[in-house]
Amino acid sequence: MVVAASRIVIENCSIATVDAGDTEYTSGHIVVADNKIESVGAGKAPENLENVVRRIDGTGHLATPGLVNTHHHFYQWITRGLATDHNLFNWLVALYPTWARIDEQMAYSAAQGSLAMMARGGVTTAMDHHYVFPKGSGDLSGAIIRAARETGVRFTLARGSMDRSEKDGGLPPDFAVETLEGALAATEATVDEHHDASFDAMTQIAVAPCSPFSVSTELMKQGAELARRKGVRLHTHGSETVEEEQFCKELFGMGPTEYFESTGWLGEDVWMAHCVHMDDSDIAAFARTKTGVAHCPSSNARLAAGIARVPDMLAAGVPVGLGVDGTASNESGELHTELRNALLINRLGAHREAALNARQALRLGTYGGAQVLGRASQIGSLEPGKLADIVLWKLDTLAHSSIADPVTALVFGAAAPVTLSLVNGKPVVEDSRLLHVDEDAIARSTRDEAQRLARIAAQA
Ligand SMILES: [Zn+2]
Repeated sequence: MVVAASRIVIENCSIATVDAGDTEYTSGHIVVADNKIESVGAGKAPENLENVVRRIDGTGHLATPGLVNTHHHFYQWITRGLATDHNLFNWLVALYPTWARIDEQMAYSAAQGSLAMMARGGVTTAMDHHYVFPKGSGDLSGAIIRAARETGVRFTLARGSMDRSEKDGGLPPDFAVETLEGALAATEATVDEHHDASFDAMTQIAVAPCSPFSVSTELMKQGAELARRKGVRLHTHGSETVEEEQFCKELFGMGPTEYFESTGWLGEDVWMAHCVHMDDSDIAAFARTKTGVAHCPSSNARLAAGIARVPDMLAAGVPVGLGVDGTASNESGELHTELRNALLINRLGAHREAALNARQALRLGTYGGAQVLGRASQIGSLEPGKLADIVLWKLDTLAHSSIADPVTALVFGAAAPVTLSLVNGKPVVEDSRLLHVDEDAIARSTRDEAQRLARIAAQA
């Protein structure tokens, strides 16, 4: 037994560890010592544990690793429900002018809304790909990071950027973009100020130019060099729609994957959102380089982008996690429902009922996410020595009690309530209630900020 200032013991619950062998316990225990998992196993916890501050009876519950979100745009929380019948490019063109009016207060409020929704639904590691930095809008990155700290979740900020506007053949309007030099300098400053490389880091930064159709080739190349010089990860959007593929062929004379390879954007330190339009050679290139994928099934359906070939990616050895994507293209903003949607939508593809099963869906949302964020040695499964990011799902009510297998209940059934969510060994949610932020106050402030943004955008 290690020396620990405090221990939390969880007993009498089903446990899906999502370790390499998918070990599960019908009735088991988890011991948390300070911020790490000390033991996981069948039956009751060992006796004579010292400094036990809390003992939780998990009867009727399933314990899993906390969910890991790998793609999101928090600011979109205050532009939900707009351009509801559009494909990606039309949707972007409709929303860019509004997005380009955001300020620090709006970014903070929208981040609070996005984080609250995810944390309440079992997300213990959140990420935000933020790429809209209007001139004079204040410290948006600082505001977003503050919101994550207040919510209590682990967090990766992918510091995005756009420098290819309409005048350079890109999609965003000229006033919505930064300069190449400005974007690189601000990204480097964000890494220097906020990135924590330690094992139990709560805040990490990635370098994240937005997409081939909004970013210059030079920013892609120099962004990759910056990330590698700083030892941080790289993130962007890739192969999302047929229109994007067409755009790349016309502008660069090659498809998205070739373009990424030519700019230094394939590698085990890279993860990319969507990857819907990938042929066999694209998937082989991702597998060879261990480039990760953030699969966002609801957003892809909302924007009629298509179905990513997740079963083929997994078979080839591509690391795949799940993403909510921005809530302007996935209004629910929940990750636990993406487990279900990933499973269902992939069954509409070529592999039909053999596409994904419940345990694979749970793995995408936990260990797969940890892999693509570069944190698989620290989070993503319930194993001794890993960080104590744990969710206790309530499965003994009307919604789930008649389903015998708890993992099937969690993935195939309705969104399960979270009785307890621990992040770094500390409770963040209890009985579906956020402990560190006021959900009703956030509901009011996000409504007010959405209205303020709509007014400003209408006047512009
Ligand atoms: Zn996105």
